[in-house]
Amino acid sequence: MKTIDLRSDTVTLPTPSMREAIYQAELGDDVFGEDPTTNRLERMAAERMGKEAAMLVVSGTMGNLVCLLTHCKRGEEAILGDKSHTFLYEAGGMSALGGIHPHTVRNQPDGTIRLIDIEAAIRGDNVHFPRTRLICLENTHNRCSGAVLTSEYTDAVAALARGRGIMVHLDGARIFNAAAVLGVDVKELTRNVDSVSFCLSKGLSAPVGSVVCGCREFITEARRVRKVLGGGMRQCGIIAAAGITALEQMVDRIAEDHANARRLAVGIARIQGLTTNLEGTQTNMVYFEPVDEQLTAEILVKQLSKKGIRLLQTGPSQIRAVTHYGITAEDIDLTLAALDKIMQKS
Ligand SMILES: *Cc1c(COP(=O)(O)O)cnc(C)c1O
Repeated sequence: MKTIDLRSDTVTLPTPSMREAIYQAELGDDVFGEDPTTNRLERMAAERMGKEAAMLVVSGTMGNLVCLLTHCKRGEEAILGDKSHTFLYEAGGMSALGGIHPHTVRNQPDGTIRLIDIEAAIRGDNVHFPRTRLICLENTHNRCSGAVLTSEYTDAVAALARGRGIMVHLDGARIFNAAAVLGVDVKELTRNVDSVSFCLSKGLSAPVGSVVCGCREFITEARRVRKVLGGGMRQCGIIAAAGITALEQMVDRIAEDHANARRLAVGIARIQGLTTNLEGTQTNMVYFEPVDEQLTAEILVKQLSKKGIRLLQTGPSQIRAVTHYGITAEDIDLTLAALDKIMQKS
């Protein structure tokens, strides 16, 4: 039986040309700065993001953590959305390892945090308060239906921070998805942030890795932080080679994933007993819910799994499907047919 795995875009396997690039990769010791393939990926990534420098890390979680630890000292505060990946799903690393105080502010359904809410969260100069050091944004916004933040919004947040000693970090795990929807160069979405991290191992299909980008001085300091975390890798050109192929070959096909997600969302909206936020489905994620309390998300996910279709339960009554490389329009139609059949029986 064929499996259609829609749990996440992290399940993507490396393409044949990535495997070939891995095999051919020229290697050296990256802790000495001598891995030519890693150096090449980092130059490419910096160029794509419009920053001076870049650094390969193991994961998106490490990328965000390295950036937070580089920006903030112990006891300083970072403002971030209450639905942000960093707050919800990174094991509290910022406070556990950095002593950084998370100040959560409500995320709007479109993934933004209102400017007035950020303004209100910024601390005054008072001995009672932690110092506000950082504002974190997320684009696309995972837990907000994969919503896209515009360059205008990102610039407005950066303008708020500027001149107050406050930095802006962008968790751009899926920044290329955002750029594809907006039809803009990624640089427009990163031009005014101090640091950005993006994932090679999600929609871009590489097996491992994320890249953090920023000014030269920031990346120099970030290298030290990565070393502390045990993230100094040696012949990591093995990983970087696939990352280079990902940037060269996998960015332009992302629109296909968005078309498939839309096809899925439109189909789900037509099925009796399921609801989804159709307008909110902008990228490769579809969140939906069974209406009937009898047929829970858990049961629905289990029944689909028996048919070889894998989705992720993301709440008591919430399910997520993510489209990616390897998922075709036909897979979407098979998924919709299976969902329809289960719902008709219930
Ligand atoms: C997946 C993800 C991360 C973390 O990436 P890992 O490689 O899984 O550690 C960070 N931020 C967002 C928005 C993500 O979706």
